[in-house]
Amino acid sequence: MQDFSGYPIDEPPHSFISNSLSVDAQTLQKQIDELSTFSDTPAPSVTRILYSDKDVLARRYIKNLMGLAGLSVREDAVGNIFGRWEGYEPELAAVATGSHIDAIPYSGKYDGVVGVLGAIEAINALKRSGFKPKRSLEIISFTSEEPTRFGISCLGSRLLAGGEELAKALKTTADGQNMSFLDAARYAGYAKDQDDLSSVFLKKDHYFGFIELHIEQGPILEEEGVSIGIVTAIAAPASIKVDFEGNGGHAGAVLMPNRNDAGLAAAELALAVEKHVLESGSIDTVGTVGILELHPGAINSIPSKSHLEIDTRDIDEKRRNVVIEKIHESAIAIARKRKAILSEFKIINQDPPALSEKSIIEAIEAASKELNLTHKFMISRAYHDSLFMARISPMGMIFIPCYKGYSHRPEEYASTQDMANGVKVLALTMAKLSLQ
Ligand SMILES: [Zn+2]
Repeated sequence: MQDFSGYPIDEPPHSFISNSLSVDAQTLQKQIDELSTFSDTPAPSVTRILYSDKDVLARRYIKNLMGLAGLSVREDAVGNIFGRWEGYEPELAAVATGSHIDAIPYSGKYDGVVGVLGAIEAINALKRSGFKPKRSLEIISFTSEEPTRFGISCLGSRLLAGGEELAKALKTTADGQNMSFLDAARYAGYAKDQDDLSSVFLKKDHYFGFIELHIEQGPILEEEGVSIGIVTAIAAPASIKVDFEGNGGHAGAVLMPNRNDAGLAAAELALAVEKHVLESGSIDTVGTVGILELHPGAINSIPSKSHLEIDTRDIDEKRRNVVIEKIHESAIAIARKRKAILSEFKIINQDPPALSEKSIIEAIEAASKELNLTHKFMISRAYHDSLFMARISPMGMIFIPCYKGYSHRPEEYASTQDMANGVKVLALTMAKLSLQ
């Protein structure tokens, strides 16, 4: 390859790029398998928690591959990793892609990882094809998409998108072992001598576009035999923490009329969540009580405290907020009826949904057509870093099929053919956007 001399002398037409794109799916699979060994639980499960030793090793693995791909690598104060391929007009806003490599306990090896390792392979494929980007291309490996350690999902992308409140809150956030976020970050080599995380923020329109490649985490593409999902919107998640308190007491001695059982209040609220979600009348409204804890947790003791965590989502923000309001009203009514105290009803996050940008959707669609891949438009019901990147950049997502829609479990699987298709579409989409 000749070095670029200042002008795009032989800028190849898009069809030339699509014809000469070859994805090395075997190597990609090997890298996915290697990355999965950085885990705190035995294979086939993967457990990789933010800033743990295994997370640090996995990060090193990613940075190494970015270096081998010829990218310049930088990290910010919370450990978002950026790999940049400089375009021949480097002052233009870059086209970015990326996802995450952290994994909840006992999950699989494809969630997020396909969008990071696949992005590196997309860049490698573009380089092999002889493509030269006009706008720079950038890969981001986001810190802590999963909320496992500090209870905050998409921590890295929320901060990138200018999460001022979050930056403040992180100064006093601690994990279940009482280790502070900043100490944990420092343990992993980040946030060195600064408590101020505002250096992580990126300005709006810092990127020309952001595209995330991800497994669908649902069964639709596989069931319908479609290769590529083009995401048009990401559902809006909200999470709520609720605490009830009662007097507790001996399971034998306290008679039923005299009880104010915090456990039963929680049970009743869990059923109310289901009822209010179903009342919305839309298949797109969902609600889950994934955590329900009773204190003191003994068979012969009436629960004196209960703790619930509720997740509710919709693609319609208003409809979802109506559900939250009804859950709140139920919590108050249940506490009153049972003479328990509703000691906390806290909305932890209440994010708005995100719509994909038309220009990005069109680029993904054009790439899929050029590559003769079947595709369909769909909604992402799981949230992703893209939800937050949409606040500062035009955004789009590419889904690929995964086995039975399994995710967040060891059986998670995507075929090398499906991954290769996704990587090709990503590469061609980035190439198209890079030349705009
Ligand atoms: Zn993910």
